Amino acid sequence: MAKPVGRRREVPTPELRCPTCGAELERFWSHCSNCGRRLEWRDTQKATGAECYYCGWIVSDAFSFCPWCGRDITDEASSPEPLKAPKGFKYERRCRWGCGGGVMYPMAYCPWCGRPQKWRYDGYQNICPHCSKGVDDWMDVCPWCGEDATGRDLIRQALRRVRQLLVVSRLKDWNYRVLLRPGVSGVTHRSPKVIEIERRYVTGKRWRDEISWNMLTGLILHELGHSFLYHNWSFTRTGRFRRAFGEVRKVYRVADSKWVDFERRGVTTTLPNYVTAYAATHPQEDFAETFRFYVARRGRLRELFAEFGRKRKGVPVFEKFLVLGDFIRSLRGWR
Ligand SMILES: [Zn+2]
Ligand SMILES: [Zn+2]
Ligand SMILES: [Zn+2]
Ligand SMILES: [Zn+2]
Repeated sequence: MAKPVGRRREVPTPELRCPTCGAELERFWSHCSNCGRRLEWRDTQKATGAECYYCGWIVSDAFSFCPWCGRDITDEASSPEPLKAPKGFKYERRCRWGCGGGVMYPMAYCPWCGRPQKWRYDGYQNICPHCSKGVDDWMDVCPWCGEDATGRDLIRQALRRVRQLLVVSRLKDWNYRVLLRPGVSGVTHRSPKVIEIERRYVTGKRWRDEISWNMLTGLILHELGHSFLYHNWSFTRTGRFRRAFGEVRKVYRVADSKWVDFERRGVTTTLPNYVTAYAATHPQEDFAETFRFYVARRGRLRELFAEFGRKRKGVPVFEKFLVLGDFIRSLRGWR
């Protein structure tokens, strides 16, 4: 093969791996996103010949502040003027405070004036509920702050309850992954195992007092219903499913699910053919609500049916629960 002419081949950066667990890392992460180990980025290549006295990370002699820990490291070698990019560092943009110096991603502080820097984390799928920096959905630990990147630690009580209810309803874990996400709650067909929970419900000041663990549990169960259906999509093609729930492929605009609805543990009395009012909005919501009630009531259909009888529910509601119950039983039989 002919050698490429006129253009130097790009030298691939050596793969960075966590010394503890072997997971891939990005340069200047503070923590391994897999095992959480604290990382140190020393000047092992002797690129600058200088490390911060305090945190040990690579710095330049010209810096006045450590861009990683933010401490004052001024000495006689420090540049009296802010520079763009001393040796060993790249210029990516100017300091956001207007000191005139250059900063490189992902410096937390300006090395010239010491003030905090913000970055856009466009390459990441989500933002950390603890520090609001970029994280990916598969990360367990935030590489920036070292906390739980999914935010599951903030809804532990609800998740524990959900897990217990799934066990007693005899549903096997299908490797779903709950995480907090800004702006939405839901499950998408593209990543059916990822259950997104609106993070404002948990971290937003306005919401925190209004949202109960019951509501969160209900919301998670409802979204798990969507995930479960995506995970078992062939179930939607069976005649019995279609007769009970209808055509789930029917287009619909995803309404902003009304969180108040999910707090209700009782069955509505108004719509005879649906377990709740929200269930009547679309066949997929109908299934998710049926799933939520099935699991919240531990799969005890006899008790549920007694309540349906008292509330004059129509035969279609009974059938939906029977269809779901039989399907869950058939899954147990297959495995
Ligand atoms: Zn690791
Ligand atoms: Zn430092
Ligand atoms: Zn600055
Ligand atoms: Zn974080």
